[in-house]
Amino acid sequence: MDYYGIGFSNIRLPNDSRSYVYRYNSRVNTFPEEVFLHEFLHSLERNSEEYGYSIPQLHDYEVYGYQNESLTGQKKWYTDYMNKNINTTEGKIGLPEEIYNLKPAKNSNFEFSTNMKEVFKEPENIIEGIKELFDNLVNKINYIGKMG
Ligand SMILES: [Zn+2]
Repeated sequence: MDYYGIGFSNIRLPNDSRSYVYRYNSRVNTFPEEVFLHEFLHSLERNSEEYGYSIPQLHDYEVYGYQNESLTGQKKWYTDYMNKNINTTEGKIGLPEEIYNLKPAKNSNFEFSTNMKEVFKEPENIIEGIKELFDNLVNKINYIGKMG
């Protein structure tokens, strides 16, 4: 979903922790990470388009002869999409190899970004823990403020 041109996706997951979407189950679901990969690939799809590459639409798997399979969903499609290995009469297509090394094309993509080093840094003591809690709260309030 695209929201005010910010371009983030919203993934809703069931509250039931026993739901099959959270676990690998050889009878029901062998690709539980599909929804996350799908939304991530939308980011790469968008970046590719903003850099001017001509690429297949992520939702067009059927156009290229792929199917949504019962246990693995669209895993084959995503694999070929990411590896530029989709067969067409004009040769192989998919995401450009370079896209994995390019930052998003537009500066506006960084407007609400969060420093990943900070996100993954564990607080080392109670003071840092409390500071982190307040920083996160302030960021959320500022973010809500900007949304109007
Ligand atoms: Zn989608």
